[in-house]
Parts: sequence; structure tokens; C-alpha cells
Amino acid sequence: MKILAKTGREDVATVYIAEFEDGKRVEFVESVQPPIPRGKKWVLIISSLFGCCVNCAFCDAGGNYRGKLSKQELLSQIDFLVKSRYPERKIPVEKFKIQFARMGEPALNMNVLDVLSEFHDIYEAPGFIPSISTIAPAGCDKFFENLLQIKKEIYKERFQLQFSIHTTDRNLRDSLIPVKKWDFKQISDYGQAFYEKNHRKITLNFALADNTDINPDVLMEFFPPKAFLIKITPVNPTYNAKKHALCSDMLLCGKRENLLSELKLSGYEVILSIGELEENQIGSNCGQYIENYEQEKQKLEKSYNYRLQPV
Ligand code: SF4
Repeated sequence: MKILAKTGREDVATVYIAEFEDGKRVEFVESVQPPIPRGKKWVLIISSLFGCCVNCAFCDAGGNYRGKLSKQELLSQIDFLVKSRYPERKIPVEKFKIQFARMGEPALNMNVLDVLSEFHDIYEAPGFIPSISTIAPAGCDKFFENLLQIKKEIYKERFQLQFSIHTTDRNLRDSLIPVKKWDFKQISDYGQAFYEKNHRKITLNFALADNTDINPDVLMEFFPPKAFLIKITPVNPTYNAKKHALCSDMLLCGKRENLLSELKLSGYEVILSIGELEENQIGSNCGQYIENYEQEKQKLEKSYNYRLQPV
């Protein structure tokens, strides 16, 4: 793996652009959550696929699919970041999270499971929390079956599973995530099998655009609050979000409070996760992808405003 460039801020997030064989490129990120010091929380966000065949409507990492990363290619992103701070591969961070969420749907790459299985053979990281965020693509049953096994055998309560569903309107969900995927019943059945009492609940993530709704009755029909929690995030300012007229101005101005209250009244734990807006400027946030920005001619006002530094 050759690092080509990086951008960002040491005290918020840094994005790296790396190249593998045949000129195939990925990006990966390390971030902290100010004011929490790195020793308490450190988050790595790595890519699972070269490009992504899912093409979610708001995501700049979609398209240009060129295959899956091998186990070694997945690990080399982690190893680069770990060794740059902890050369002995001993990571004394209280909450050390790795999200397989920069470019590529992780359930489309079985090698992700090998990384999860072998992680503790390579790194001494008592605070490690793996995080899988998925749109639950159809045809990945084997991945999910094995993931459940790995969680039960190795990680137990130290595992974060998130389903990105974005809306309870099935037609809108199909247009936001334009591939075949599990329906709510399948997600619910799997989530309930995954959840264990007193462990982390399964997250249902909604990148909540202004024209998107969440119907608490639909949620209640499928997702019991004892096993599922709701995470609301903004749609970040990406090229694709702009192209599809998706933005979260109302959420950012506090105008979705009624919806949040309704969800809480239904019994759900609701996490509103706005994150660091500086990350939009860096290009390190969810759905952002710097290489695509580099190819676009028009500037976006609220994002991608940091210069790339060659490495
Ligand atoms: S959000 Fe994830 S699954 Fe959707 S296009 Fe982007 S990388 Fe792929």
C-alpha cells in the first residue's frame, strides 16, 4: 500500500488516500471526538471495497466498483494508522473503534470477517470495539451468519452493529439505497438474534433529510425498543446529496424536535449525532469521498475545503 496524500486536522480527523495494485485507490480516516482525548476515544474508518456498487443517493463513495479488498489490504489500512501512533501494536485507548465504513458496503466482502476473527492475534487492544454499519444487502446471508458467530465467540458486548435504513417509507428507501436488500422483517429477525440482554442495542440509523419521514408505528411493528435504538444523523453536504436535493437543514436548525420526541415517546432510546461540522470541511464525514471531490469542478460551500498534502 502506498500513501499518496492526506488532508485534515490532527485534533479532528485526517483522511489518507492510498493506492494498491493496479492503481486501485481507497481512502481511510482516523478521527477523534473533541474534547475527548485520543487516549479515551480513537476512531479509525476504513474502506472495504474498491468503489461501491450500492450507490446510495447521498454518498460520494458510490460507483466505480473495482472489487473487494483482500484481508491484507484491509489490515494494511489499520496497520498504517496503528503503527504511526503505537509502533508495538499495543493500543492503550479506552474506546478504540474501527468502522468499516469509508468506501464500500462491508457485508459484500467476506474478508472483513477474517479481519475481525484475527484482530486480537495481531493487536493488543483491550478497548477495541468493531463497528459494522450495513444497508443489509440481499444475498449476504453467509456474511451475517458468520458475523453473528464471531460476535458471540469473540466480542460479546463489545460490538456495534448498525443498519442504515434512513426512512420507514419503503419506496423512498428503495430510491435512497437502490439495490436489493433485506426488508424490515429480515433486519428485525437478525437484529433480535444478534442482540443479547444488557449488551449494546442494535442501531437503526437514519440520515434524516428534510423531505424524509420516520413513522414510529412502522418502527414499532418491527423493531422492539428493548433491542433496537434510533440514531439520527444529518445528510452530509456531498455532491450526490446536492444532485438528489437531499439536505438536513431542518434537523440542523432544531426543527425535527417533534419527530425526535415522538420516537422517544414510543419507547426508543434516540441518539442525535450531529458530529463535528469541521469534518464536512475536511471531507472525513459519512458519505464523503475526497477523490470524487477532486474530480468535481464545482466547489461545495459547506464541504471539502481542505487542501490535499502529498505524502
Ligand atoms: S453509503 Fe456505504 S453502501 Fe452506500 S454507496 Fe456509500 S459506501 Fe456504498
